[in-house]
Amino acid sequence: MKERLYTAAKPTGRLTLGNYVGAVDNWLKMQEEYDSIFCVADLHSLTVNIDPKELRDNSYAVMANYLACGLDPNKCTLYYQSQVPAHTALCWLLDCVTSMGEASRMTAYKEKAQSNKNVSVGLFNYPMLMAADILLYDAKYVPIGEDQRQHLELARNLAIRFNNKYGETFVVPQGVYQKVGAKIYNLQNPTKKMSKSDFDNSGNILLEDPIDVIKQKIKRAVTDSDSKIIYDPENKPGVSNLLSIYSVLAKKSMKECEAFFDGKNYGALKNEVSDIVIATIEPIQQKFMYYMNNKDEIEKIATQGAERIEAEADKKVKLVKERMGLIF
Ligand code: ATP
Ligand code: MG
Repeated sequence: MKERLYTAAKPTGRLTLGNYVGAVDNWLKMQEEYDSIFCVADLHSLTVNIDPKELRDNSYAVMANYLACGLDPNKCTLYYQSQVPAHTALCWLLDCVTSMGEASRMTAYKEKAQSNKNVSVGLFNYPMLMAADILLYDAKYVPIGEDQRQHLELARNLAIRFNNKYGETFVVPQGVYQKVGAKIYNLQNPTKKMSKSDFDNSGNILLEDPIDVIKQKIKRAVTDSDSKIIYDPENKPGVSNLLSIYSVLAKKSMKECEAFFDGKNYGALKNEVSDIVIATIEPIQQKFMYYMNNKDEIEKIATQGAERIEAEADKKVKLVKERMGLIF
């Protein structure tokens, strides 16, 4: 039997090149090897202020991009988180075994709370909902970017704590991190992560950006005053970011990339990055348009996906309730 793998992206915006390089590109190989579940985590999007129309559009678009990138409903399970009520049910049960101290240490929450005065309880609760997403399905592997490492650690701690207190109930999940590309940075501010929920997308490449916009964004990417093309994230964050993107998309090791660009200038680096990004994104955009014009297909795929897994999720919630002493 194949081992279970679970991961998700939330429809807080449109997928970025960071999401592709750091996540979806990797998922394509994983769907062949694992019993994979790829979720569109729409409930998580409610943790930020988002209007209903935007959320609905983004939800279709993220699933359309999953499919356009090559996630195949015959090989993996695709669904919307809100279709399976067990996620929120388990979240509450996990809330009650999470301490305020450990939840308050989550840096993603602290960062978002700093820049936003009207923070919701949902945003604080986000890591426990994410733990529920993963633990519901006995996922052994969770491929994620570096930015999610702390949340995954919390999910592991909650699983271990629950198992110790109430008996073996959850599989303790393992995070799977890429060596290169696990964190793609904003092209205008290469010490800040590329994020799809950003208000200003001038430094983010969106999978849906027109080709000429992609070219412009890469051309304007911040580099430095030196001219050496080497991977040195600390001293050369902009150049290193472009090299990471190139390395993943060209399927070349960082050593090979450095050798390839040895003696070339930043203009040449940007041209190569631009070419490979466009060659990757252009075919995705054509398929994306097909799904956005056929939303009924998206709905059908998601409904079938949810139907495939909801019984398993319900069974897990029942077991957890029983272990905790609830009568149902
Ligand atoms: P948000 O701004 O709403 O948090 P996001 O762009 O960070 O959006 P998520 O939905 O949080 O996207 O994450 C989806 C997946 O993409 C996760 O596995 C996450 O680790 C990965 N990811 C997100 N941003 C990047 C990035 N800049 N580089 C590499 N991987 C990323
Ligand atoms: Mg994120």
